[in-house]
Amino acid sequence: VVIVGAGFGGLTCARALKRAPVQVTLIDRNNYHLFTPLLYQVASALLDPAEVARPVRSLVRPLANVDFRLGNVERIDLEARRVVTDRGDVPYDYLVMAAGSQTNYFGNRSLEAAAHGLKELPEALTLRNLVLRRFESSAWETDEETRKRQLTFVVVGGGPTGVEYAGAISELIRLVLARDMPGLDPEEPRVVLLEAADSLLGAFDPRLRAAAERALRRKGVEVRCGTQVAGVREGWLELGGGGRLPAATVVWTAGVRASDLAPGLAAAAEVVPGRQGRIPVDTALRLPGHDDVFVIGDLASYEVDGQALPMLIPVAMQQARHAARSIRDLIQDRRPRAFRYRDPGIMATIGRNAAVAQIGRLRLSGFPGWLLWLGVHLVNVVSFRSRLLVLINWAWEYLLFDRPVRLIVAARPEDPDSDRLSDRGRQPRKKR
Ligand SMILES: Cc1cc2nc3c(=O)[nH]c(=O)nc-3n(C[C@H](O)[C@H](O)[C@H](O)COP(=O)(O)OP(=O)(O)OC[C@H]3O[C@@H](n4cnc5c(N)ncnc54)[C@H](O)[C@@H]3O)c2cc1C
Repeated sequence: VVIVGAGFGGLTCARALKRAPVQVTLIDRNNYHLFTPLLYQVASALLDPAEVARPVRSLVRPLANVDFRLGNVERIDLEARRVVTDRGDVPYDYLVMAAGSQTNYFGNRSLEAAAHGLKELPEALTLRNLVLRRFESSAWETDEETRKRQLTFVVVGGGPTGVEYAGAISELIRLVLARDMPGLDPEEPRVVLLEAADSLLGAFDPRLRAAAERALRRKGVEVRCGTQVAGVREGWLELGGGGRLPAATVVWTAGVRASDLAPGLAAAAEVVPGRQGRIPVDTALRLPGHDDVFVIGDLASYEVDGQALPMLIPVAMQQARHAARSIRDLIQDRRPRAFRYRDPGIMATIGRNAAVAQIGRLRLSGFPGWLLWLGVHLVNVVSFRSRLLVLINWAWEYLLFDRPVRLIVAARPEDPDSDRLSDRGRQPRKKR
């Protein structure tokens, strides 16, 4: 079995195949598994990368039948049953595609060039550095207009990621940086959250949406619903109605689409991609016409009552367990069963003491919602070590209003081929 992607779907599938009579190759372009729900806390200087990501090798070490390979999957050769990577081809009997999704800029070049995504670990680090750097630069700035622009942070997209990040940077500014920088006028920095729809958190109950908006406003976030973004220019945001908003930093959380592998896979299988470019699958989560290929998680479009299941962790994990069970069924000549999703609920936090949670008929907001959010996320952080470190950092921040990881530090750009032996490198050295 070859699994593409060591995210929530791929890793869960590898784990679910632990006792199956199969040899698993798990391929990912990163050597870590990322716990996305806490990524915004890396981008707001609350957590370090190692607290939200774990090396895949350490996670699969207890799985005797799983081999991990670091590599970028370029395409799938369905006819030859091979996964084509930048490192070589990997043949499969069964394939599980769990390559996830990526930021969607809807073809808007200016957005793609100037706005910052919040989907990958390097993006979160870039944002952390940028926010901190903007404050340091503002301390030197004598021109008031330029300083205002430097200190305006616009988050586009009122879904959970946008809401959580807007709340988190507002708290970073008001509770931590304002104390660090006595010369800073606390009224000068602005955090603006833009949403094209009429309200934030469209997937939530209207009461919770209103509670989230109130909590954000209390934390100093300017919420503007019904506002579209047309483009980003150096230091400016162009709004749909023709207005302009001066802002040096724009964070784009307003769109997601299936991984770049989706169009090639859809074309090879002659299926039409669904909304967000996701791959339609049959009831057993297989690629239509290819009984040996499963597609799960964000990459898959599995419809219930005419609507694709959302791009969420519980969907990816439940589908992963189902695909693993189907592979075991197929090996034993049994027909795979149809997938059924059990919805565990949704939640989003707005910072200290505020969150909204919707679980079955239960609706929680404010402090009770926040306690539930803390508990659920702490239990689900991938390893015991991360759980402990996250808890220490949260407690430290909560009690002392301090975020110790506010360092401006970036790795030098790495050459991805640096570990390959070039032909020149292999030649014996000439003697002098
Ligand atoms: C900031 C953020 C916060 C989120 N918060 C929540 C939340 O609170 N609750 C929730 O339910 N959902 C949340 N989500 C959504 C959730 O992360 C996804 O729904 C989930 O990760 C989907 O799992 P997946 O296995 O399909 O994809 P992923 O977990 O994204 O895994 C895909 C994997 O494939 C790898 N990959 C991709 N392309 C290639 C390639 N060409 N070659 C090799 N490897 C490749 C990637 O490196 C990655 O490891 C959040 C997402 C983001 C971005």
